[in-house]
Amino acid sequence: MEAVNPATEERIASYEEHDADDVEAALEAAHRSFEEWREYPLRERERLLENVAAVLREDQRRYAELMTAEMGKPLSQATAEIEKCAWACEHYAEHAHSYLSDEHHPSPPGTEARTVYEPLGPVLAVMPWNYPFWQVIRFAAPYLTAGNVGLLKHASNVPGCALALEELFERAGYPDGVFRTLLIGSNRVDDVLSDDRVRAATLTGSGPAGRAVAETAGRQLKKTVLELGGSDPFVVLDDADLEAAVETGVRARTQNGGQSCIAAKRFLVHEAVYDEYVDRLVDAFEGLTVGDPMDETTDVGPQADAKLMTELHEQVRRSVDAGATVLTGGEPLDGTGAYYPPTVLANVPNGCPVDVEETFGPVATVYEVEDERDAIETANDTRFGLGASIWTEDRERGRRVAGELDAGCVYVNELVKSDPRVPFGGITDSGYGRELSRAGMLEFVNRKTVWVE
Ligand code: NDP
Repeated sequence: MEAVNPATEERIASYEEHDADDVEAALEAAHRSFEEWREYPLRERERLLENVAAVLREDQRRYAELMTAEMGKPLSQATAEIEKCAWACEHYAEHAHSYLSDEHHPSPPGTEARTVYEPLGPVLAVMPWNYPFWQVIRFAAPYLTAGNVGLLKHASNVPGCALALEELFERAGYPDGVFRTLLIGSNRVDDVLSDDRVRAATLTGSGPAGRAVAETAGRQLKKTVLELGGSDPFVVLDDADLEAAVETGVRARTQNGGQSCIAAKRFLVHEAVYDEYVDRLVDAFEGLTVGDPMDETTDVGPQADAKLMTELHEQVRRSVDAGATVLTGGEPLDGTGAYYPPTVLANVPNGCPVDVEETFGPVATVYEVEDERDAIETANDTRFGLGASIWTEDRERGRRVAGELDAGCVYVNELVKSDPRVPFGGITDSGYGRELSRAGMLEFVNRKTVWVE
């Protein structure tokens, strides 16, 4: 496996893939350690999670630089990602007790009926490269603390991060086998997931990858959580605070090089403010600093790899051929590195690639909508259903429109974000199940009913 720096196109390092014996050893270690780990007192599992937060903070710079080198996210954002990981660990260390406490049910006098939450066993996590640490901590913090053990199959372009994560749990003091990284390609996921010792799987990534994992898991009757792509609407109504909606809209579309499932992708702007909003959005896109991701002042780094950038540009090119207008950007930058400029497209024809597909890069599409109803219908006119953001000075109106949007989460006057305190996930082609909060923690547990007469 090769790690290539997308900013310099230089090879950082190459790693031996794990062979069949290595995978077998990891599966056996996971299986064995589960029996011991599930018996650990919860307080001890919480304490180990606090250690993870401490190690993350201790080595924040090293981890951030590793992510930036392997997938090109600006260093300032990588540093913030590590801090967010530490926060999520602390959140579960503090709340796991209440999230996992027994639920008591009404029952006849003299009887007792409760639900207790017990772990399932080894969980396979197939993870993407876009938030190399956050995506992994998001599954590991709740699921390990619930008593499961984790097997990570990370994206092939971030092998250094995958190994650093294994080392992180080791340094925090986790028993051997509770968290293991498998350096394997996607063609070997099927075998691992089919193994009886693996009890469940979670995947964050593209639709095809999600479908492949769900198919195998379905045949084996194993529970899955899928967090797939999105084409989130960013709805700017006629009474929006335009300055805030521009500032946040730019961030929502371009942070992490635009490579986020919950990035704002379709900007639906009320006709009363359309011209002003779009002018300001384009100005703000043009004011972003694109360049070396190691430079603390960079806003947009390179795309994570050249192939993904070529695919993004293909989507733009085919949409322009179909009639879309480029307001800014639209061509890869010359020179070394997979740099794509912040791009805004208007007059987007129905059904063209940027209208119906996920765009994983700094490409915004703007649509003029007649009124609130038109905004809602256009927002819902997608096969995805991950997040949505609504901008209005009238909070009651915001709540009403939120109720009509088909999405797993809606934010009013805020960008869509993942936060350990609230459930995160989508519907339709964006996947199913929830991560984070109590809902996320309870995805991979046996909700066992105990009735005592
Ligand atoms: P993939 O979905 O291909 O990769 C995500 C993870 O799934 C990786 O670990 C990958 O392994 C694995 N994987 C891929 N195919 C399979 C399979 N058939 N069976 C099991 N595991 C599989 O994403 P890409 O990196 O190729 O990106 C393509 C597009 O996916 C993006 O442009 C974006 O639209 C979407 N995406 C969405 C993400 C999200 O956050 N929801 C994150 C990343 C991508 P390996 O790396 O070895 O191929």
